[in-house]
Amino acid sequence: MNAAFDPLRYRADFPLLARKVHGKPLIYFDNANTAQKPQTVIDAVDGYYRDYAANVARAVHTLGEQATAAYEGARDKLAAFLNAGGRDQLVLTSGTTQAINLVAYSYALPRLQPGDEILVTQMEHHANIVPWQLVAARTGATVKAAPIDADGVLLLDRFEAMLTPRVRLAGVAHVSNVIGTVNPVAEIARLCRARGIPLLVDGSQACPHQRVDVQAIGCDFYAMTGHKLFGPTGTGALWARREHLQAMPPFFGGGEMIRTVSFDGTVFADPPHKFEAGTPNIAGFIGLGAAIDYVQRVGLERIQAYEAELLAYATAALQSVPGLRLFGRAPHKAAVLSFLIEGVHAHDVATLLDHEGVAVRSGHHCAHPLMQFFGVPATARASLSFYNTREEVDAFVRALDKVRRLLA
Ligand code: PMP
Repeated sequence: MNAAFDPLRYRADFPLLARKVHGKPLIYFDNANTAQKPQTVIDAVDGYYRDYAANVARAVHTLGEQATAAYEGARDKLAAFLNAGGRDQLVLTSGTTQAINLVAYSYALPRLQPGDEILVTQMEHHANIVPWQLVAARTGATVKAAPIDADGVLLLDRFEAMLTPRVRLAGVAHVSNVIGTVNPVAEIARLCRARGIPLLVDGSQACPHQRVDVQAIGCDFYAMTGHKLFGPTGTGALWARREHLQAMPPFFGGGEMIRTVSFDGTVFADPPHKFEAGTPNIAGFIGLGAAIDYVQRVGLERIQAYEAELLAYATAALQSVPGLRLFGRAPHKAAVLSFLIEGVHAHDVATLLDHEGVAVRSGHHCAHPLMQFFGVPATARASLSFYNTREEVDAFVRALDKVRRLLA
C-alpha cells in the first residue's frame, strides 16, 4: 500500500462522510457523479455570503472589490492548477457541458460545411456527443465515432485512420466516466496537430484523479467540471488556446462581456470575459478555489497512486462475486468500476445497496452509445475517491453478495 497515504486523515475533512444512510454508515461510491466537499469549501461559500456577498466586476465599494478579488483569485488558482499559460485562456462556465457547448456554437458552428466531420469516440459522455450533433444538424456535417475494443480501450490506429481531411474537430474524453479508461490524450493531440485538426479534451473525470497540464497535453480545448473536483455544483471551465478565444465570437451576450455598447454596435471585452455574460456563480467559484487549494495540499500524485491501489483491490474483490460482470478493463484506468450481476437489473442493485448504506449510480451514465457497444441498457457503477477505504470496499462487496443472494 501507499504507506504515506492515510485516507482516514482526509475523511475527517468531509463532514458529509460521517452521516448514516438507512442506519448504516454511508459508503459514498458515486464520486464520478459528483464528489463530496471538504469543510474548507463549505466555509469558503459560507464566508462569501456572510462577509462580502456582492456582485463582481461592477461595484467599487469594499464588498464588490473583495468579491471580485476572491472570484478572480479562483480563476488564477484554476489557471495554475491546469497550467493554463494565462488567466485569459480560462473561461469560467457552469461545467463541462457549458464548456463544450461554447466550443460547439462559437468555434465549430461558423466553420462547419456540408460533408465535414466531427470525430469523437464510442466511449463519450452525451456532453461530448450531443452538442456536436446539434451543430452538425445545422450545417450538414456529421459526427463519427472511433471504435473501442472489448476492454474499453480506444483503438488508436482506427482513430488515426478516421482523422481524414474532412474532420474539422475531434473530441475525446480524457477519462471515461463509465469504464474509467484513461485515453492517451497527448498522443491523440499529436496525431490531430500533425493534420491541423483541433482537439477538444473532455477532462471532467480526469481533474479529480491526476495532475492535468493542458499545455503538456497539447490540445486546443480542455473542458472541466468543478463539482467532481470537490467544489460546488455549477462550476467548471473551458481552457482554450489564446488564438481560438480571440477568434471566437461570443456565445451569450449581456452585461460583463462588453467594452462599449451602442445601437451602432458593441465592442466586446477581451477573453475570457467576452464569454462570461451575466452574473456568474460567484460563491461557487470561490468554493472551487478552496477545493483546488485542498487537493493541492493532499497532492494529485499521491491521490493518483492511492486510487490506483484501491482500484486494484476493488477489482480483485469484485471478481470474487459470483455472476458479476465487470465492464472496462483498460490497463490504464481510473478508479471507476461498472458492473452487472447476472439476472439482476442495475437499478435493483443500486436500490438494495442504498439500503446497506452504499451509494452507487445505476443507469446509462449519459453514455448510450457505450451501453449499445456493450449490449446492455444499464450498468451499476462504483466510482472511488481518495477518501474511500479498503474497509469500505470490503463492506460494499459483502453488501453485493447479500444483493446477489436476494435477487439473482
Ligand atoms: N463529461 C464527462 C466524462 C462526465 O462524466 C460529465 C459528468 N457526468 C460531463 C461531461 C458533464 O459534466 P457537467 O454535468 O458537470 O457539465
